[in-house]
Amino acid sequence: MKYTVLALFPEIIDAYFKNSIMAKAVERGIIAYRSINIRDFAFDKHHTCDDAPYGGGAGMLMLAEPLGRALEAAGACKRFLHAGAEPCSRAGTAGKARASGVSAGGRVIYLSPSGRPFCQALAREFAGEESLILLCGRYEGIDQRIIDLYVDDEVSVGDYVLSSGEVAALSIIDASYRLVDQVIKAESLEEESFSGGLLEYPQYTRPEVYDTIQVPEVLLSGHHEHIRRWRLEKQIEKTLAVRPDLIRRGLETGLFNDETCKIIHSIEGIS
Ligand code: SAH
Repeated sequence: MKYTVLALFPEIIDAYFKNSIMAKAVERGIIAYRSINIRDFAFDKHHTCDDAPYGGGAGMLMLAEPLGRALEAAGACKRFLHAGAEPCSRAGTAGKARASGVSAGGRVIYLSPSGRPFCQALAREFAGEESLILLCGRYEGIDQRIIDLYVDDEVSVGDYVLSSGEVAALSIIDASYRLVDQVIKAESLEEESFSGGLLEYPQYTRPEVYDTIQVPEVLLSGHHEHIRRWRLEKQIEKTLAVRPDLIRRGLETGLFNDETCKIIHSIEGIS
């Protein structure tokens, strides 16, 4: 999997790729990474990348021209919007349009609060791609024509406004790269939050007593079946308390097995 990140402050992203499991995945050749500084594609000597929006309004917008050039350098090519535009070929895509599908350089994602919500299922989908081009906005966002011409998906990391796409891109990179084959052991991914439509159960490590709080007895019992059952009940209690929408969706889509359904129905308030 190759990530290409376009940003005004790529050093924020660069630092992440040098750390921990990610650094190992890069070293092992499972993950590749390239950052592109959008400012390098500005036309003037001040490397201007923003201007006031047409029609007025607060703040500045990122200019289309540096963004378009940076995207072409990343291997993105324009959508086939205009009659007479030349279709994109794999070699030398610059300035050409694509007849259909995704650019030779990969699926282009623009991080945006107006995008579709990011979630574990989308992280899995992204992890299955050969390459992703992540476009990070700043200021009030980017010129719409860049979205129309190049962007395959607008993705939001939540219903709040960040000041930069770099932070959002990091969430997408982090959630997807760990799902790429061989980065993390498959069994570590099986029991985590969202994997079976429930949040994770509470976990404890040494010492047995911390600040007078004892580790639940069942976890010290060595009884695998009791531990499994306790964990499932805790998952359900937690999910009901903080994310009842996940329980509702799981019930509606038939995601849960009989045991899980029985526990859910036995807890007051759910019918
Ligand atoms: N004026 C815009 C917000 C721009 S915030 C609006 O009201 O929608 C500046 C940049 O931060 C955006 O271009 C985007 O790349 C990024 N960003 C902010 N919030 C985000 C979110 N929830 N998800 C993904 N990216 C976000």
